[in-house]
Amino acid sequence: MVKETIRVYARLKPLGRRQQAGIYSVDDDDKSVSSLEIIVPHDLADGFVNNKRENYKFKFQKIFDQEAKQDVVFDSIARPVAECALAGYNGTIFAYGQTGSGKTFTITGGAERYSDRGIIPRTLSYIFDQLQKDNSKMYTTHVSYLEIYNECGYDLLDPRHEASRLEDLPKVSIMEDPDQNIHLKNLSLQQANNEEEALNLLFLGDTNRMIAETPMNQASTRSHCIFTIHISSKEPGSATIRRSKLHLVDLAGSERVAKTGVGGHLLTEAKYINLSLHYLEQVIIALAEKNRSHIPYRNSMMTSVLRDSLGGNCMTTMIATLSLDKRNIDESISTCRFAQRVALIKNEAVLNEEVDPRLMVVQLQKEIQELKDELALVTGKQRTSELSQEELLQLDKLIETFLEDNDPESTLDVGADMRKIKYCFSHVKQLMNHSKISDKKTVSQHISEEKDTNKAAGKEELKKLKELLQQRDNEINILVNMLKKEKKKAQDALFQLNVASAGSTALEQSLSINLEEKWSPSNCFSLKEAKDLSSSVNRLPFLSRQTGGKMSLGCQEAFEVFKWDHADSITIEDNKQLLKQRFAEAKCLGEKINEVRNKINHLKGELTQRHIQRVVLAVSNPSEELNTLDPVEEKLRTQIEEGKKSYKTMFNRLKGLKVEIEHLQLLMEKAKVKLQKDFEVWWSEESTNLQVCQEKTELVRSPNSTTVYPQFIKSSQPLPTNRTSPSSNTPIPLTGDSQIDADILAFIKARQNILQKKGLGNK
Ligand code: ADP
Ligand code: MG
Repeated sequence: MVKETIRVYARLKPLGRRQQAGIYSVDDDDKSVSSLEIIVPHDLADGFVNNKRENYKFKFQKIFDQEAKQDVVFDSIARPVAECALAGYNGTIFAYGQTGSGKTFTITGGAERYSDRGIIPRTLSYIFDQLQKDNSKMYTTHVSYLEIYNECGYDLLDPRHEASRLEDLPKVSIMEDPDQNIHLKNLSLQQANNEEEALNLLFLGDTNRMIAETPMNQASTRSHCIFTIHISSKEPGSATIRRSKLHLVDLAGSERVAKTGVGGHLLTEAKYINLSLHYLEQVIIALAEKNRSHIPYRNSMMTSVLRDSLGGNCMTTMIATLSLDKRNIDESISTCRFAQRVALIKNEAVLNEEVDPRLMVVQLQKEIQELKDELALVTGKQRTSELSQEELLQLDKLIETFLEDNDPESTLDVGADMRKIKYCFSHVKQLMNHSKISDKKTVSQHISEEKDTNKAAGKEELKKLKELLQQRDNEINILVNMLKKEKKKAQDALFQLNVASAGSTALEQSLSINLEEKWSPSNCFSLKEAKDLSSSVNRLPFLSRQTGGKMSLGCQEAFEVFKWDHADSITIEDNKQLLKQRFAEAKCLGEKINEVRNKINHLKGELTQRHIQRVVLAVSNPSEELNTLDPVEEKLRTQIEEGKKSYKTMFNRLKGLKVEIEHLQLLMEKAKVKLQKDFEVWWSEESTNLQVCQEKTELVRSPNSTTVYPQFIKSSQPLPTNRTSPSSNTPIPLTGDSQIDADILAFIKARQNILQKKGLGNK
């Protein structure tokens, strides 16, 4: 059991160029605590009702200042938690802070650079790396991805995720078992066998979330996302399973203060945007208070799901994300205050071990069989659980003889067989019962005449039987002891047998393990594999959208122009270039690896040749010593070793490249989906605007003929690109179909807007 308080870290987001920095200082002289001092400028301080303080000091385990990189944050915060999860303890890392302060950046990562990947992808990478290294246990990993929005849970990995609105998805609900354990109904657990599969699930969930978000629900800032890695491990042959859960939580934006502008009354107003964050705070307050018996976990779904992470069986870490520009001072102070309260909570993490009853049964069955085999080995006889008819008859006879024998020294010897001993007992019992019943009958029949005589006889009989029983007890004890001794002998014999055989297999193994095999050419990374990476681009099962690929030509054209203008297109282009470069690098490395592999094979061939030559020489010329070191052979060996080393280095680099390429591909897919989504929003807005214009122009339009819309056509200019587009100089023939016309007009207007933005359009 590990008892410790929740670890609380702070991370400061780099300020933008236009942001005015608030005044703060970080003091991290002490290794175990850092403190953050926030200085409130005079103009703002006036606004703090009942509070004219100007300096606020908060303690954190560690503070990551603006320039802290993602790998450093991962190493300090997430790696220890991931290690514990691998060892069988539950872990939680949650990011808390106002919108835009860097929660998603810290938990999931930036959407542009590979180096910006956040805690989730790095943790997955670390965990799978460790699992691969540890051969002593069998591991299984699953992931789940839950989004909580407006007190409803949604499964972001639901395979039926066809809906384009969050509200259309099947809802996840909370169930509580009699032991008060929380279970989530409808939340799918997806198995992930390696880093790639897990990352695909993460990106799938993120994409689903992005698609389900609408400007109305603003899910990304108002919902909580809980990505959970479920690890279970078992040693081979053991029935004990260790299970742990690692929750990585991106909470909703914590802003709750009604912004009334600088100088207004800021911190006093507790206007909660997000009710479940309010409940989270209540739980934290209750937990931080001593002697509170009731903790209001059940008030919200999020606190129910994270019940163990807060004041329970879990190693929990909080990251307070802060954006310390001048406008956000109040929010930052409120985040820090929350963090200070969280830091008071003590959790007790226990090793989550359980015995699998099915495995236990299998194990016991195996043990029984082994014992039976042992017994057969000792007695030389195979034994079934039932006695044969013949044996039963034999036993009956033995018992009969024994009971009739008046010699007090006589014994009943049935051998060291529990089945027979048990049978004897039950038989004697039956006989006793039988005689008792007959005694009773006799007594009732002759009660009046022979009362006294019978009593004496009964007593006599009972005494005899008691003696008999005592005697049998003794005999049975002796028999049991005998059985135990024999069993021990058999175990010793078997143990020696095992030792002998284990010794010989270990020897065989050590002889057969050829270290060279580990990096043998058959295990090498082929060029084909490097090429296969490229085929994975389209693997994300993107969802069918409202447009369903049925874009009109005008719409397609507009999408091209929109894409050109969209901020993310630079990112996509950059990543494309980077991907190209990485592919080239991977290809080059693959070729080099193959070269080295061929070289090693060649050297090995030479070495064998050389050895054969020396053996032949030694046979034909006995004075030639075979055991002396041959410099040529030695040189060949050294070259092989060097080859292997560089092979290994390049192979590892290639593995790293593979992960990076996959990550970049996923980032690009995500950016593409976002682009498409942004376009749809923009397109529908433009169409709506134009509906209004169209209604006005209806008046200008002459009946029954195609019409020219002067106000649009006149102002449109040919596109200064080589893109194919309907020539804007020619009049646009309108069809009379209002929907198609609206499309055409929307396109013209859209293009015009873009060109104007770029300074290319008609002023
Ligand atoms: P939140 O999830 O808290 O609303 P985000 O993580 O989305 O905030 O961050 C807002 C913006 O700031 C994003 O564009 C993100 O890339 C950027 N950002 C946040 N933290 C950092 C950081 N430490 N370094 C660089 N950019 C950051
Ligand atoms: Mg976010």
